[in-house]
Amino acid sequence: MINHIAVIGGGTMGRGIAYTAALSGFEVTLQDISEEATEKARDTIENLLNKNVAKGYVEVVQAEEAKKNLSYTTQLQEAVCKTDLVIEAALEIMELKINIFKQLDEFVPAHAILATNTSTMSPSEIAASTKRPDQCLAMHFFNPVHRMKLIEIIRGLDTSDSTVEIVKQVAEKMGKETIEVNEFPGFVTSRMNCLIGNEAMNMLMEGVASVEDIDKALKLGLNHPMGPLELADLVGLDSRLRNMEYLYHHLGEKYRPSPILVKYVKAGRLGRKSGRGFYNHNNK
Ligand code: NAD
Repeated sequence: MINHIAVIGGGTMGRGIAYTAALSGFEVTLQDISEEATEKARDTIENLLNKNVAKGYVEVVQAEEAKKNLSYTTQLQEAVCKTDLVIEAALEIMELKINIFKQLDEFVPAHAILATNTSTMSPSEIAASTKRPDQCLAMHFFNPVHRMKLIEIIRGLDTSDSTVEIVKQVAEKMGKETIEVNEFPGFVTSRMNCLIGNEAMNMLMEGVASVEDIDKALKLGLNHPMGPLELADLVGLDSRLRNMEYLYHHLGEKYRPSPILVKYVKAGRLGRKSGRGFYNHNNK
């Protein structure tokens, strides 16, 4: 029975996961490495709750309950020492995830499940740093978490059936649909989505069409709800580049990151999070 969820990393995804979990009745502790990061996460979550109350999507009492369910800390051990489920949403860097999982394995109760929100990486490799690979898997949420219906559940080599079942029940309580995926780089969604986004970036670089027209083509011509370039800005171009690099390394040439993506990240154009990516978000 999962009552408490610890979310590690309070960036784009960690905030969204904490918001959704708290609103679904779980007790949630969000941990990040600095107070600046946890305060920013708290502000974003509370602003979203207030906004969704104003729009009538969330009842006032539900929002108050969610705020009570949430706590914030910079201390990993404090965040996870009584938890039932950890969802790690730190940066997409294998060494970092392995380092976090090693510590989690020491600090969490014996029954606790360890999930990573990695977009591309091997849950088996991450789980191998623990003594409980049967209780590890990837739980891949989508951005923005409160609006996106899917959680991709990726089994590692040793993930037990009961771990998958428990995580499915958590997803259901969060109002999400799940799909079960056997481990492979990029799973189903990132493997497909990274290619589409990268091709859009290459087309932009080749001068095939403007940012707006590439996005419009996919939205109106192919019925995508968002264009690939606006989606990349939402994801964060630094996160997208890490995904591409991992897929390129593991799956080869067709995932080579578009040079324009590399150039934008080097220039600090990270999408919405920095105010500028393929679009200028400072005017919005
Ligand atoms: P982000 O850069 O917005 O946030 C990462 C957060 O992790 C930051 O707040 C950072 O301070 C924190 N962090 C770094 N090291 C840490 C540590 N040792 N302990 C605790 N916190 C630490 O990144 P993001 O976009 O939220 O991505 C997080 C994970 O989710 C990545 O694995 C990414 O691939 C995955 N993901 C991202 C998206 C997306 O749309 N952005 C979608 C699905 C999955």
